[in-house]
Amino acid sequence: MHLEDKAITRLRIHPVLTEIAALFAARGKEIYLVGGAVRDMLRGGAAQDWDLATNALPEAVSAIFREAVPRGKVIPTGIKHGTVTALYRNHQMEITTFRTESAYSDGRRPDTVRYAATITEDLSRRDFTMNAIALRLPGGETVDPFGGAADIKAGIIRCVGNAAGRFSEDGLRPLRAVRFAAQLGFTLEKATLDAIGGVLPVSAKVSAERVRDELEKILASPRPSHALLLMEQTGLLKLFLPELAACRGIAQKGFHRFDVLDHSLLACDYAAREQFPPEVCAAALLHDIGKPLTRAMDASGVWTFYRHESESVLLARAILTRFRWPNAFINTVCHLVQEHMFHYTEDWSDAAVRRFIIRAGKANLENLYRLRRADSAAMTGTEPLADILLPLVSRVDRILSSSRALSLKDLAVTGKDLAATGIPPGKTMGRILNELLETVLDDPEQNTRERLLAIALKLHERSA
Ligand code: ATP
Ligand code: MG
Repeated sequence: MHLEDKAITRLRIHPVLTEIAALFAARGKEIYLVGGAVRDMLRGGAAQDWDLATNALPEAVSAIFREAVPRGKVIPTGIKHGTVTALYRNHQMEITTFRTESAYSDGRRPDTVRYAATITEDLSRRDFTMNAIALRLPGGETVDPFGGAADIKAGIIRCVGNAAGRFSEDGLRPLRAVRFAAQLGFTLEKATLDAIGGVLPVSAKVSAERVRDELEKILASPRPSHALLLMEQTGLLKLFLPELAACRGIAQKGFHRFDVLDHSLLACDYAAREQFPPEVCAAALLHDIGKPLTRAMDASGVWTFYRHESESVLLARAILTRFRWPNAFINTVCHLVQEHMFHYTEDWSDAAVRRFIIRAGKANLENLYRLRRADSAAMTGTEPLADILLPLVSRVDRILSSSRALSLKDLAVTGKDLAATGIPPGKTMGRILNELLETVLDDPEQNTRERLLAIALKLHERSA
């Protein structure tokens, strides 16, 4: 089979799209598949979500779908901006009326919408050549006025038209460019790359949520460092993540081969490559971000970073809050960063392992191991020969499966039991329960109702 033949089979149009095209054709309207779906098909992948462009006005688009599927769903959420979301045969798609470029003064959505007459005009408002290709439906002929297919083949991200001008219209575009670079493994064409430095003041005005969405996609890409290094090179890193930019040139000693920034990028790449959850990828990027602020030289001339994890937590929280990540996400990332510095050795007692489990929290153990593996691999930049955490993991597993007491609720007595013996509820009882837990952590054999009640009474007498 020739390459060309392969390309044709890959661009086969989904039967549902063919059906939709027929609905539009019956009313004399044009409809095209556009955006990421076309880009992904030309790269040989499957189309993700469907974005469609048409010369029918939004009201007409809604009418077409309502008529076709009386109980089908049409959501006119973006109708002011020319977009209709439709659910058709279990496929959700966005259908946007041909538009021309308009200003985004709030950094979120264009202020006004001006409809365009042709698909070519619509394509010319799009950001990059690879995103400005349309497939005419139902046939699948490509409309590619800016050489997008050739750029995709060469792995190049290039602005449609003058880069500085296009970036000034919407300051998110530079961030989209570096995000796509990391997602697709593409490079930025020189004029596109060179234009970013000059539009940073425009990028500074973009809403926090739009920036966060891009940062999130960067962290989920196969190699986040690709985007983050481009951000450093162009000034976007200093603009959006100055705390991370400050890690450049912070040298480390000991097992570390890299400065704090490269180490953080390697840790993040490791986490992304292993497809760890987003919390772990973010923690890997931010786990050492407090190092520049805690660096001090000891008497023997070696750099130290005492308690850097606490400083890292403060900065990580500030960054994630700034971009409005959800609180639950922020708390998990910060917890992982705070706990990332454990140093397991074989002489840890079982009690020490139990305390480690409690500090980490059972639910976070796996993610903490993941963060630690990313951190270790990023010290030397080479894959460790063996899993360094294996001895700890197996001890933790052994303790967890022996179902010995690990938290207050695992104690053989409850607050009610203590109250029945005359210990008043409140502060005293809380303290006694915690002491019982400490006792059980040190010696699980003590976790019987009889033993704990006896200890509790003794503690109570002593404190009375
Ligand atoms: P993905 O969905 O994987 O992020 P995509 O290319 O589909 O990639 P969307 O954000 O879904 O990106 O946008 C769909 C299309 O709309 C893009 O391919 C592009 O043509 C156009 N577009 C989106 N955002 C912008 C923008 N800020 N400026 C210009 N065109 C844009
Ligand atoms: Mg899309």
